[in-house]
Amino acid sequence: MAGQRVDIDGSIMEGGGQILRVSTALSCLLGLPLRVQKIRAGRSTPGLRPQHLSGLEMIRDLCDGQLEGAEIGSTEIAFTPEKIKGGTHTADTKTAGSVCLLLQVSMPCVLFAASPSELRLKGGTNAEMAPQIDYTLMVFKPIVEKFGFKFDCDVKMRGYYPKGGGEVIVRMSPLKQLNPINLTDRGTVTKIYGRTFVAGVLPFKIAKDMAAAAVRCIRKEIRDLYVNIQPVQEPKEQAFGNGNGIIIVAETSTGCLFAGSSLGKRGISADKVGIEAAEMLLGNLRHGGAVDEYLQDQLIIFMALANGVSRVKTGPITLHTQTAIHFAEQLTKAKFTVKKSEDEDDSSKETHIIECQGIGMTNPHF
Ligand code: ATP
Repeated sequence: MAGQRVDIDGSIMEGGGQILRVSTALSCLLGLPLRVQKIRAGRSTPGLRPQHLSGLEMIRDLCDGQLEGAEIGSTEIAFTPEKIKGGTHTADTKTAGSVCLLLQVSMPCVLFAASPSELRLKGGTNAEMAPQIDYTLMVFKPIVEKFGFKFDCDVKMRGYYPKGGGEVIVRMSPLKQLNPINLTDRGTVTKIYGRTFVAGVLPFKIAKDMAAAAVRCIRKEIRDLYVNIQPVQEPKEQAFGNGNGIIIVAETSTGCLFAGSSLGKRGISADKVGIEAAEMLLGNLRHGGAVDEYLQDQLIIFMALANGVSRVKTGPITLHTQTAIHFAEQLTKAKFTVKKSEDEDDSSKETHIIECQGIGMTNPHF
């Protein structure tokens, strides 16, 4: 595949790994040779970290492309994509680097492969600064499937910071085109549920305390709903190393999903971890948008590729979202507009509509 090389400045806007994921996935899909410079320039450890490197290597393998300059710490890479193949592909961060971020970069690509794919993703399943696998399953999956595809995700082994060692297997079939989505009717909250977990040597009491603290915190603001947060001891054969954390999901009458989540850290009490997740959820419910602060940016690439106009109502637009839009527009020529929402009855709530005329990416194998 030929085409002029696209130059990406990895240091602008959010300046993190997301720029690399969005631009590599789109380069692979569109057959555009890519160069990314100043990768993660503003971060305390600039350049590629293990998760970014194994994500890049997986995209290279998915399409038998060429990748130059990709090593841990490199701040510049060049990538020349070829045709996307299906089949089995493995990516291993060999650290606690997030398997969910490996999925983030590869999922859009394998949707447009020649045949079904199996992705074996290894690393952290419940890692900081990334979706926990429970978020990917409970929030991301049901919503992203509205674009018209399904995927199956089998959590073989959970893995945590610092050891990693988790593994998930994702199976999905390619499709011809993505449908646009409309997520503008938030509805009213009808259910709140979730799980807290401990794995390894950590006492089960931590899971119970996280759940109790989260329920108490939610009850202060939402009194008329049963809040069902289940404490779980991860079975030994399904979890590697020690970890603890929580995810809470609120579901609305129109099928919108919002989450709050947190992970245990040394020196932080179980109560605090539970409260952090509860406050994140409550914050995500206050603004009147139809997605939470994390789903926003994760939907952008699919909106850019879809065949038609997608609309998503959000709370305050995150820098991650602005960044994803910027690079999606640069690479795909999809057109996004972000407008303050007009039909908001409460002017104290900041609500926006992200609208995108997608490019109608078509799978050449259909
Ligand atoms: P860097 O280390 O440079 O920040 P990164 O690749 O680790 O790079 P980001 O570029 O910051 O990570 O992207 C993080 C992604 O994880 C975003 O898509 C964001 O929405 C998602 N994310 C972060 N925290 C959560 C969370 N608590 N729940 C769900 N998704 C999350």
